Parts: sequence; C-alpha cells; structure tokens
Amino acid sequence: MSNELDKLVTHWIRPEIRALAAYHVQDASGLVKLDAMENPYTWPDELRDEWAAVMRDTDVNRYPDPGAAQLTERLAQCMGVPPDMRIILGNGSDEIIQMICMSLSGPGRCVLSVDPGFVMYRMIATYCGMPYIGVPLHAVDFSLDVPAIKQAMEQHQPAVVFLAYPNNPTGNLYAESQVIEIIEAAPGLVVVDEAYAPFTDASFLQKLGRYDNLLVMRTVSKMGLAGLRLGFLAGSAAWLDQFDKVRLPYNINVLTQISAEFALRHKAVFDGQTQRIRAERERLEQGFARLPGVTVYPSQANFILLRTPPGRAGEWFDGLKARGVLIKNMHGAHPLLSDCLRPTVGTPEENDAMLAAFAEVAG
Ligand code: PMP
Repeated sequence: MSNELDKLVTHWIRPEIRALAAYHVQDASGLVKLDAMENPYTWPDELRDEWAAVMRDTDVNRYPDPGAAQLTERLAQCMGVPPDMRIILGNGSDEIIQMICMSLSGPGRCVLSVDPGFVMYRMIATYCGMPYIGVPLHAVDFSLDVPAIKQAMEQHQPAVVFLAYPNNPTGNLYAESQVIEIIEAAPGLVVVDEAYAPFTDASFLQKLGRYDNLLVMRTVSKMGLAGLRLGFLAGSAAWLDQFDKVRLPYNINVLTQISAEFALRHKAVFDGQTQRIRAERERLEQGFARLPGVTVYPSQANFILLRTPPGRAGEWFDGLKARGVLIKNMHGAHPLLSDCLRPTVGTPEENDAMLAAFAEVAG
C-alpha cells in the first residue's frame, strides 16, 4: 500500500475496526470437514430432483417478497413458535444479531455476554460502536457465574444480554433456573440464542410472552441448511416491529425463500439426520473419553469440546490435519480454552476416521 493510501485508510477507518482481525475461515479442500458445526448429510436424490423442479419454475428477474410471508408462516409453524408471537427473518442469525445491535446502540449502551461464547456477539457489538462486556464462565464446567453476571449488569446496564443455549464453543446447556434469574434481573433485552436447538430438547420458545424482555433466536444452519443463510428472531411484536425497520429490504433472497420453504415441507428428512447426529455425538463422547489424559465436556450441541493433555492441542490439531481431518483448535481463543479442541459431529464414517486419527496422535 502506498504511504498516502495507508494514511487515508488509517485516518478514516475507525480504530476499533482497524484493530479487528477479520473472521477467519479455514481452507478445508480435500479434508474431512469437521470444523464448522455443519450437518454432514446431503440430500437424498429424490429430494434433489424435486427441489431442482421447484427451482426451475422460480423467476429471479423480480425482487423477492420483502416480508417473505409464506416462509415466515411455515417457519413459525414448523419450529413451534407460540401463536401470539411474531418472527422476523435474517440472512443467517448473524444478521439478526446485527439488527438488534444497530437498533440499540447509542451513548452508554453496551452488549453483555459470557466468555468463552459465540464470537460474533463481540464482533457485531464492535461494528455497531457498542462496548462488549464478557463475563467469564466457571472454569470447571463452563456453567454461568450468576452473581458475577448480575453484578456486571448492575454496573454496566447492558442494552442486551446474549446467551447461547446450548453455548458455543463449550457445548453445554445452562441451568434453566439460572437463565431465568438473569432474564428477571436484566435491565434490557435478553436474547436466548438457540442455534443448536436441533440437538437438545431444551428451549425458551414456550416462555416467550412470560417476560417482556425475552426474545429467542434460531437458525436453520445447524439442521442442515447452512448454505441458505437463514435465521429468525421470535418474540413480541412490540420489539420485532422496531427491529424490522433496520432490516435491509429483500434481505432473504428468492432462492433462499423457495429452498427453505421446500426443505421445511420435508422437515422429517432433516429431523432424521439430526437424530443420527445426536446418536453419533454420544458415540464420539465415549470414544474421546478413552483417549489418555483427555477431558471431554458434555455436549447438547453438534460438536464436542475436549481438552488435551497440557501443551498438546496444536500438535494434535496438526496431526489430525495431516491425517485428512479438519477440526477447530480453540487453544488461544480464551484463557479458559487452553489445550482445547472442538470437533464437529460428522457421519459415522467421518467419525470413525476422526477417532482413528485421534488414537494415533494421542499415541
Ligand atoms: N449463534 C451461535 C451460538 C452460533 O454458534 C452460530 C454459528 N456458528 C450462529 C449463531 C450463527 O448462525 P447463522 O448460520 O444462522 O448465522
């Protein structure tokens, strides 16, 4: 970069944006991809053919339905959103986090969550000029430190608290009573992020309406539609009508609207896949527990957090990659995650390959 261009960029780009590292996605070419909490199963051929026929009859010369009315209705119904609650859609739930932060930001407004947690809460708060307060989870089991959260809420008066339920990257589900305690004590909104809902029976959806400050966020990414980019926020119209004003026009494109609606008509296929992932999760947990010196953290999601013997995470991660298996190395992401790895649950064959690779590197 020329000196002049460099100066111009440095002058105009906000310092907090310059200080950010861009969201990094690992190159998975040629590897068994178990790094990004995706559903490993593709669609059966009959479903692909039917989908292709639907797509063939879809026109892309016109803008999409701006409110995605048909998809909104089907999603609300399929996901069991209470009938008196509304939903709004985002281009992935990431976009919903952004819509919430854009609507709430302003002097003295901050975002609070727990660490280690989902990194986009901090990133998006920063994009929107909001300070981020991260309250550490308990080191032993990654449970909520409720007194510390209450103290931080009292001190910082956050406009919104995000809680991933189950949590990413730790995979655990917080005690429901503790989440309720936080909802009741929060000065502003509490968004319960249920991205991993397909892999647990717990949910706050049916509690919507009981608390004025509670909203529930979901995504179709983890059930097997990550490529479509579609998430939703459920809650009372009083909040959602406001967020809808900052939603970009036509944020859900035609192909996503049509494909998601089609997929949800065949939800049983995806439910079958998530059941298999849950069963494989158990098998993997048992397999990892047999590795010498490894701690396995119980998971209610489609990934498992494990801790290697001290100083070995990098070497094990590289060893797996050399054997053709890509997972996520969490060492260095947060002090509580030292020596931690986070593999996603794959197909039985992928999991066999991963377990074999782990057995070799753990030697
Ligand atoms: N929330 C959590 C807790 C997540 O882990 C993720 C994705 N990794 C998201 C939200 C974002 O999901 P989406 O694909 O809908 O943007």
